[in-house]
Amino acid sequence: NSRPEPELLGHPKGLFYLFFAELWERFSFYGMRALLTLYMVNEIFEALATRDLAAAAVYSSYGSLVYASTVVGGRISDQLLGFRKSIMLGGVLMALGHFVLAVENNMAFFLALALIVVGNGFFKPNISTFVGSLYKDGDARKDSGFTIFYMGINIGGFVAPLLCGWLGREYGWHYGFGLAGIGMLTGLLFFWSGIKKGVFMDKGLAPSEEALNKPMLGVKKKTMVPILAFLAAPIIAVMLSSYQAIGGGDTLFGDQNFVNVFFKTIGVVILLYLGYILYQANPSERKKLAVALFITLFMTVFWGFHELSGSVITLFADRNVNLSIIDAAQTNALNSMFIIILSIPISLLWTFLAKKKKNPRTPYKFGLGLALAGISFYVLSLSGASADENGMVPFAYLLVMYFLISVGELFMSPVGLSKITDLSPKRIVAFMMGVWFLSSAFAFQVVGFIGKQLAIESDSAEIRGFASLDTYIGGFEMIAQYALGGAVIVFLLSPLLNRWMQNVH
Ligand code: GLN
Repeated sequence: NSRPEPELLGHPKGLFYLFFAELWERFSFYGMRALLTLYMVNEIFEALATRDLAAAAVYSSYGSLVYASTVVGGRISDQLLGFRKSIMLGGVLMALGHFVLAVENNMAFFLALALIVVGNGFFKPNISTFVGSLYKDGDARKDSGFTIFYMGINIGGFVAPLLCGWLGREYGWHYGFGLAGIGMLTGLLFFWSGIKKGVFMDKGLAPSEEALNKPMLGVKKKTMVPILAFLAAPIIAVMLSSYQAIGGGDTLFGDQNFVNVFFKTIGVVILLYLGYILYQANPSERKKLAVALFITLFMTVFWGFHELSGSVITLFADRNVNLSIIDAAQTNALNSMFIIILSIPISLLWTFLAKKKKNPRTPYKFGLGLALAGISFYVLSLSGASADENGMVPFAYLLVMYFLISVGELFMSPVGLSKITDLSPKRIVAFMMGVWFLSSAFAFQVVGFIGKQLAIESDSAEIRGFASLDTYIGGFEMIAQYALGGAVIVFLLSPLLNRWMQNVH
């Protein structure tokens, strides 16, 4: 291919198409997420005394599956579809999911979530890897390319809760969900126009046309994969709707639902397999891999607290925070707002410290990140002391909490991503990326566990007021203790982990 790579602002032009496609995809994802828990509690499960419990279970199962599906979607893309087809397929499935929520009846609710789960599996990992593939190995622009991309994610994550939340409040839930669907379609249109204009050159194509056209059960594979993807949705919908199993000890799984049991099982399988990989590696590789696994574990714990924003924190904001300018759904914009403001200053801080040879090593950054998560929840727990006579606390506490946890996120998430690639032997780097994504999936099991502890029964407690406030404040104190305890463990392990990282910094 002799055509020169088209550029824009010093980056491959394709980056800007991926930037806008991902911006709108995350717009749909976070616009919907801002409404999801409130919609479940006030609409889908409204009649249940244990509606908080059901909502916590479904939010956690949905979150676990939406991140776990990326492992499957990434693999199918590598083996068969390539990035372009995977992203188009994922986008269509996600848009469909959002539109089902927009026209909704309660029956279709789980099907809508399932379509988003499958769609995200094809979209999210592949658009991220596509960004990397726009640059040759060792291209110095790659890091800043990812910073720009992460910015796109958070512009979507900032604007969507504000707009979808507003529509949801003023006109009804379904308008909010509908706007999310329109966002996803806009993203797809951007992506498709990039393909039509040829900005991706020869990148993101399927690895082999021949393999795509091979028949599977009498149908070409390129047709069969989308068919199977659509067929997976009802199965996942059934898994998601097994929330009823919680709370009643009389079911097959006790107080667990299908998704909990599924993740426990694959968790054990993955641990055994990781043990085997460690056993096989040579001593130098083994130490680096062990560090990669530790930082993945720390990341899981961090997301386990961070992702409470879409459930427990949203309910707390709704029931116990004095809000005036924005409503509870819209508070979901705060994390992305701080990421947008802070990501450039913090990446400049690392460069500045690196020049002075004082850039903290990765384990310390992770320890700080977890400590910040702990402090953020501690601050939130202090809000209880300032509650007014209705059990409502000042908004400033929530704002400071989001500020602190966003700084923590920037100390961990972008750093970890690049360290995983440095610390894993080449032959298993793709697998380790999958494990890294799974950290978010397992984190949602933590989110579910905490969500269930803090669920407030609508017939036994006043939803607004001191009854719910006490439950939440107690929960935030507990979370702060666990996060700070985790941070102490990370700091204690850091000297050892630093040594095991060897030449990686
Ligand atoms: N906010 C980031 C995104 O949406 C990361 C979320 C996560 O991995 N849990 O891409």
